[in-house]
Amino acid sequence: MTPLEYDRAYIWHPYASLKNPPPVRQVASASGVNLTLADGRQLVDAVSSWWCVAHGHNHPAIVEAIRRQSEKLCHVMFGGFTHAPAVELAERLARIAPPGLNRVFFADSGSISVEVAVKMAIQYQQAQGRPGRGKMLSLKGGYHGDTACAMALSDPDGMHTLFRGMMPSHFFAEKPSVAVDDGTPEGQARLDAEIAALARFADAHAGEIAGLICEPVFQAANAMNFYHPRYLQAMRRICDEHDFVLVFDEIAAGFFRTGPRWAHSRAGIAPDVMTVGKALTGGHMTLAATLASERVADVISNGSVGAFMHGPTYMANPLACAAANASLALFDQADYEKDVARIALQLHFALDPLAGRPNVRGVRVLGAAGVVEVERLPARADIERVIDAHGVWLRPFANFIYAMPPLVSDAATVARIGAALADLASCPPGPETSGDFHE
Ligand SMILES: *Cc1c(COP(=O)(O)O)cnc(C)c1O
Repeated sequence: MTPLEYDRAYIWHPYASLKNPPPVRQVASASGVNLTLADGRQLVDAVSSWWCVAHGHNHPAIVEAIRRQSEKLCHVMFGGFTHAPAVELAERLARIAPPGLNRVFFADSGSISVEVAVKMAIQYQQAQGRPGRGKMLSLKGGYHGDTACAMALSDPDGMHTLFRGMMPSHFFAEKPSVAVDDGTPEGQARLDAEIAALARFADAHAGEIAGLICEPVFQAANAMNFYHPRYLQAMRRICDEHDFVLVFDEIAAGFFRTGPRWAHSRAGIAPDVMTVGKALTGGHMTLAATLASERVADVISNGSVGAFMHGPTYMANPLACAAANASLALFDQADYEKDVARIALQLHFALDPLAGRPNVRGVRVLGAAGVVEVERLPARADIERVIDAHGVWLRPFANFIYAMPPLVSDAATVARIGAALADLASCPPGPETSGDFHE
């Protein structure tokens, strides 16, 4: 058996069947924006390997940081020990986090950091004698991960419906429908109505709600929706009024993906708890973090339980922390806001003309994220053909053809990605079933 044959027969891939699975390509190496396949061909990674690879693949500074750390300490349990890479990373995160969010919990993936954030909200309420406040208020159209608690906070009619029976039930508000840049009187009126509905719901269920959670401004993996930041200001007001914990999940939108370092900074407010992941290590190691305010940390720590009840085996892995420290240094040195503004202009240039085409429902761009929403995805064969013809890796899902290129992509790279997107969006709609794969 060749490696590809073995893979096809025995190895599960994300959201794939083992019976007649979709094709996979064997990657041999990667550098910058490029993946090199085992057969020598190169593909531009227009998905940043699920939005992580901000500085490009195998960035020399991050590789060197991992190598140097590996010679000293690859892992040690975080119960009873600490180490320099973890302390440096906590300090670095505190410097760039919204003011006051300097209490850090290190998690090994984004989903876990979300579980941790929710447990913080629940423990915060418990510690104040409100055991009835056991649910989160989340937004339809959201995505917070694939573990049970994170699934339960994601769109209830989205990709996780199969597991409804085992998931804790939370409250959901309607998907925010007003676009990020919609300043029209009609848009603002609709936003007022959505905010009023959210506030009414929170008032009616205040005794059961521990906190509010959302992906600020950019609902990514479920809806590819860029919504108005004023919605976040309303969430802040509602949380202040009822002493709910406000959780922003910046795992997808953070680290300049939408323009500013944090997507929520457009709203001029800060959450009580924030999750970061994906681009934290620049896509070099798996690591996420949950940042909490002093108040949340104090209330939990002064509660009758006292301890915060979570502790993964690989918590604060030193190699991952070293990678994150090197990645955060690169975020400090670069001028990604400027680069992302240029990428956004180029994505607009490539995608705006597609609006109104057959099969195209709409086109939207925010920062280094460009989305064509279609009635139905093209047939699998067309998707493969466009990827090979342009040498650009795309992974459309549900009704979305999109790119989220590495933030270091130069103008020629983004132009190539734009051409591939336009070509794919011009393909005829495929069979009904091609829409059932995710992310
Ligand atoms: C990807 C993602 C997660 C889950 O992160 P994993 O590392 O895949 O567990 C959570 N929230 C958001 C917003 C994400 O985009």
